[in-house]
Amino acid sequence: MIDLRSDTVTQPSEAMKRAMHSAPLGDDVLGDDPTVKALEAHIAEMLGKEAAVFTPSGTMANQLAIRSVCEAGDEIIAHRDSHVIHYETGAPAALSGCMIAPLDGPGGIFSDLEMAAAVRGPDDHNAVDRMVIVENTHNRGGGTAWSLDQFKAVSEAAHHQGLHVHVDGARLFNAVTASDYSASEFIAPADSVSVCFSKGLGAPVGSALIGSRKLVDRSRRFRKMFGGTMRQSGMLAAAAIYALEHHVDRLGDDHQNARALARALSGVPRIHLELTAEKIPSNMVFFNLEEPGPTAADFCSRLEEHGVRMIPMGLRRVRAVTHLDVAAEAMPMAAEACAVVLEELQIMAGGSDAG
Ligand SMILES: *Cc1c(COP(=O)(O)O)cnc(C)c1O
Repeated sequence: MIDLRSDTVTQPSEAMKRAMHSAPLGDDVLGDDPTVKALEAHIAEMLGKEAAVFTPSGTMANQLAIRSVCEAGDEIIAHRDSHVIHYETGAPAALSGCMIAPLDGPGGIFSDLEMAAAVRGPDDHNAVDRMVIVENTHNRGGGTAWSLDQFKAVSEAAHHQGLHVHVDGARLFNAVTASDYSASEFIAPADSVSVCFSKGLGAPVGSALIGSRKLVDRSRRFRKMFGGTMRQSGMLAAAAIYALEHHVDRLGDDHQNARALARALSGVPRIHLELTAEKIPSNMVFFNLEEPGPTAADFCSRLEEHGVRMIPMGLRRVRAVTHLDVAAEAMPMAAEACAVVLEELQIMAGGSDAG
C-alpha cells in the first residue's frame, strides 16, 4: 500500500523505538520526567523562545494557546481555510467561548492590510479581537509556506492592534525547508507557536506549545483541565527528540517526492493539478478531477483497491501528502494507479450511459 493520505501515517523506525525504550522516565504530572523536560527545553531553544509544554496533539497545543490568551466573547482572526476552523471540532467556541473572523487570501496567506481591516474597533457592540493565527505551512491552502516579510508585516500590524500572534506550525519545519529562513527567525515576531512531532517528523504522538515562560506556565493549568497532562510521557518525548535530531534535515526529500508526483500526474488525463510541479511548495499535492466525472470520494475509494491511498478534500478535490515512509519509486506508481482508476471509472460511466 502506498499511503499518501497524510504525513501522520508514518511508523516509528527501529532506531526511534530504541530511543523510546531507553529514555529515562518520571511522572510528568509531578513534574519529574527528565525526557519530557529535555524535549521542552530543546524545542524552546530551537525556536528561540523561553519555554515549551508537551501536548498529546496539535489541536490541544492550539487550544491551550487560545484558552491561555483569550476570554469568552473574544474574537480570533484566522484564514478561512485554517485548521483551527476546519478540523478542531469548534473547540475555540466550546473550550474558550471565542468566535473566529475568517480572512480570505490565496493559499491560506493574508496580508497585514486584510488583517488590520478585520479588527473591530473599541465599541460596546464589538467582540474584542485578541489573537491572530497564522498557519505555516498552510494545509488546505496547498502546503504553502509564508514568506518572512509577509509574516513580519502581519505580526507588526497585529501587535500594533494589541493582538497576540499565534503560529499554527504543525508543519513549521516543512515551511523552513521550503524557505530561506530558520525556524527561530520565522518565529521571532510570534508570541506563541504550536508544532507537531507526529506529522512529517515521524514521531508516533505529540506536539508542543512554545512561547514565553508566563504563557507556557499558564497553559499547563489548562492542559491539566483538558486532560492532556501525561505521566511517563518521556517515552513519547524521546521519539520527538529523535525526530528533531534525525528527521528535520530530510524533509527536502518529501518535497522532492511531492514534485515528482505532480510531474507524473501532469500527464494523467482528467486530472487538473492546482500547482505545476515546480511550484509545489512542500510535501502536499492537490488536484481536481474533471467534471463531469467521479467525485473525490469515489475516486479515492477505488484508488485504494489499487493499493494507493489519498484523501478527498472537497467534492472533486484530492490531496496527496509525501512523508518519510514513502519512497521516490512510489511516485510514478501512484500516478499510474490514478490513471488506471480514472480510465476504469470512465469506462463504467460510459457503460451505464449505454444502458
Ligand atoms: C495536523 C494539524 C494540526 C494538529 O492536529 P492534531 O491531529 O490534533 O495533532 C494543527 N494544525 C495543522 C495545520 C495541522 O495540519
